[in-house]
Amino acid sequence: MAETARKAEMTQFDDLVARGVILGPDHFVLGDGYGNPGHHSSHFISAAKFYDARDLLHDFSRRLADRVAHWRVESIVSPDDQSLPVARLLGRLLAGTYRVPAVPCFSMESDPLPSGPLRVMIHDDVVSRGRQATELMGRLRERGIEIVGISCLFRRIDSSLFSEVPIVAALAEPLVTYPAAICPLCRAGVPVNTDFGKGRFFQAQQDEPAGFDI
Ligand SMILES: [Zn+2]
Repeated sequence: MAETARKAEMTQFDDLVARGVILGPDHFVLGDGYGNPGHHSSHFISAAKFYDARDLLHDFSRRLADRVAHWRVESIVSPDDQSLPVARLLGRLLAGTYRVPAVPCFSMESDPLPSGPLRVMIHDDVVSRGRQATELMGRLRERGIEIVGISCLFRRIDSSLFSEVPIVAALAEPLVTYPAAICPLCRAGVPVNTDFGKGRFFQAQQDEPAGFDI
């Protein structure tokens, strides 16, 4: 990445912290997607704050569209409905770049999935551990689809752990998470933030007397 681009990205990270879209550094416990406490991280993403900031939404989408334009995608599929608005925005931006009428977008949660020899990009607003994206990739490949890559706004997984297809994030800096058992913040005795994510739930579990588990 060019030095100026790197500087712009750094400024943007600070800007996101200043605007309360990214909280931290602190000690956060994130959900595992099933309502339970999951991985820990020094940064929390306030999705609601992000979606409210229309300028950020457009800025991030435009940057993502520029970065994935060379994939020449024919369709975009999201693992859930929450990521669909950004997927659709990307679809419109890419259609303009490709000079095609539209890049159709689908949600695994509520649409019938496409099939056939299509070049598909998966878009997920936040890629945490890549579990949903992996599941979606499997289902799409069964339908004869070629997955060209994954786009996201924020990336929490280390890309070296997800080498199957390229993964491109609007915010290049990863907001890394750790399994609780090897969390460096836990190890350092940093108190868990109980106001966001699953911190309170996690804390309550930790405070349970030993031997109380079934
Ligand atoms: Zn921790």
